[in-house]
Amino acid sequence: MRYISTRGQSPALPFCDILLGGLAPDGGLYLPETYPQVSRAELDAWRQLSYADLAFAILSKYVDDIPAADLKVLLDKTYTAETYCFARPGDNPADITPIHWLEKDKLALQELSNGPTLAFKDMAMQLLGNLFEYVLEKRGETINILGATSGDTGSAAEYAMRGKHNVKVFMLSPHGKMSAFQRAQMYSLQDANIYNIAVTGMFDDAQDVVKAVSNDAEFKAKYKIGAVNSINWARVLAQIVYYFKGYFAATGSNDQQVSFCVPSGNFGNICAGHIARQMGLPIAQLVLATNENDVLDEFFKTGVYRPRSTAETSVTSSPSMDISKASNFERFVFDLVGRDAAVVRDLWKQVDGGGAFDLRGTPYMDKLPGFAFVSGKSTHADRLATIKAVHEQYGVMIDTHTADGVKVAKEHPQPAGVPLVVLETALPVKFAETIREALGREPERPAALEGIENLPQQVEVMAPDVAAIKAYMVARI
Ligand SMILES: *Cc1c(COP(=O)(O)O)cnc(C)c1O
Repeated sequence: MRYISTRGQSPALPFCDILLGGLAPDGGLYLPETYPQVSRAELDAWRQLSYADLAFAILSKYVDDIPAADLKVLLDKTYTAETYCFARPGDNPADITPIHWLEKDKLALQELSNGPTLAFKDMAMQLLGNLFEYVLEKRGETINILGATSGDTGSAAEYAMRGKHNVKVFMLSPHGKMSAFQRAQMYSLQDANIYNIAVTGMFDDAQDVVKAVSNDAEFKAKYKIGAVNSINWARVLAQIVYYFKGYFAATGSNDQQVSFCVPSGNFGNICAGHIARQMGLPIAQLVLATNENDVLDEFFKTGVYRPRSTAETSVTSSPSMDISKASNFERFVFDLVGRDAAVVRDLWKQVDGGGAFDLRGTPYMDKLPGFAFVSGKSTHADRLATIKAVHEQYGVMIDTHTADGVKVAKEHPQPAGVPLVVLETALPVKFAETIREALGREPERPAALEGIENLPQQVEVMAPDVAAIKAYMVARI
């Protein structure tokens, strides 16, 4: 299996060659040359598999440059009940992503946030950590990951890379801007290869430092600077697995269909659902939910993709969906336009120049319904009402992002026999302030995380000064 760029002007490469990088050299995103198909016989055989075995069956179709026995070891070590230990009482952590019915056979949550940082990013990031370590070891290489975070992604990266050989992580976060819980999660890590830098400023200041360092090609090459951003193909690939797992858990036979509702930001999660469907998984609908930042809802309703400026992007109570530009969306559009890279280049010439594109009146608009997407949006008031209603009706506490999902899911009832699975993307304890506002009480907190705010913390407070931060890194690489 080789990987091609959505812009069509980069050489096709095998999996391990695109694993450590980000964008393709031509500015596009990598996708497999074709989507491997899953036969009915395979679906029947896969229904009973454990999560790790299912992951092996699926990834084997995409990864042919890691020996099967090694891939199996990596997956067995990644998807364990010990790592994904925060299942709801009564749900089985060994399922890794258990289904929790709100209405039997109709509406369910799929728990994707039972990993170490209580958000679905752990599903892919934990595997990425093990893949990075394996490939770097084989090649005798090292990598120094530099990132900026306002919460979820940075902590998921740190928990994935902690203690890994040949990997160091330098993570910038806005000083004093994250919740006490988020700070404790990140800064209490004592691993020698994790460096937390609290930048005096906002998230954008931290992000600007990362951009400045990444734009310094010489520095980047000399110090082997890398990233773990959401456009990494291996992250999308890892996420395909739980759509299959959720399908098997929510249905009684492979004659049934299922629909998924996905709280979306950068389009990474739902892109994996789209690919699962292209592989032949019987998905009736992919229901995309946004918050007030509704660039994706707008596209699926109108055919106009109009990325927003930072100034037009709202700060909301589902902050991991506060995006102005959906970085993985280009992968879907590549498929929508019949994988014609010249068309993608044309469309993104407009996007990269700060503009928009409009597919109304093009043949692609007629193709859109065939991809089975529908969408909706949710606001702060909707989140509060949904958190409250779900708690009252079903006795289940959900986080703000999942609430956006449930709100939009309820607007898209499915035919009888088609369960609707809402992907639960974080646990409520991460967003305590909004839970208090909605329910007038503290969120549930897993016992293992009691008192993490009191653990000793390791963090360096620095100004957003590019030269100083470079010097800090060089002294530690
Ligand atoms: C990242 C994130 C999302 C959005 O996922 P995308 O892949 O960016 O669409 C939703 N909810 C939570 C909690 C997240 O951390």
